[in-house]
Amino acid sequence: MSGDHHGSDAAISAQVRHVEALLERRGLVDPVELDRALAAYLARSSPANGARVVARAWCDDAFRGRLLADANAALPELGLSMGGGLQEQRLKVVPNTDREHNVVVCTLCSCYPIALLGPSPTWYKSEAYRARVVRDPREVLREFGFELDPGLDVTVWDASAESRYMVLPRRPEGTGGLDEEHLAGLVTRNGLLGVAPV
Ligand code: FE
Repeated sequence: MSGDHHGSDAAISAQVRHVEALLERRGLVDPVELDRALAAYLARSSPANGARVVARAWCDDAFRGRLLADANAALPELGLSMGGGLQEQRLKVVPNTDREHNVVVCTLCSCYPIALLGPSPTWYKSEAYRARVVRDPREVLREFGFELDPGLDVTVWDASAESRYMVLPRRPEGTGGLDEEHLAGLVTRNGLLGVAPV
């Protein structure tokens, strides 16, 4: 949705329902079809998708390069997309390194890469997280139980209706022998948002 980005979740939901009702009344949208499309979209959306992307990037440097250069173009290599049959959103994947750590927020509402992470957690939508992670990311990460190395620079990426972000965590030490599938199993949703190490 690229309209009013500033409304509350409740206001946005009310607007969406209103538009749906209008479209249905004019026979432009079949409510059964719409429900089916949304259900299929959500069924495909899970943090397991983001984890697969990360594991592939850890194992394949060329893929990592393509992912960081243009995530939307790289996702179809894994059968994924940011569209889900709806409007395609721009995705930028931001890599953690030994010098820089990345965290994702939407300060205005709750924009989130649903296709890769599933529905967003409650804390992501909370005003406390949205306001505080920008001002003091280290303290917020500490509350998640994640003590960030003081030598790392922190970048907080503010998502919007058109642009979404996902963190590429650093590959954990001692995982050289693991294959892609097992590596994907190490990646958590919170790691993909930057509030956990992996
Ligand atoms: Fe938002």
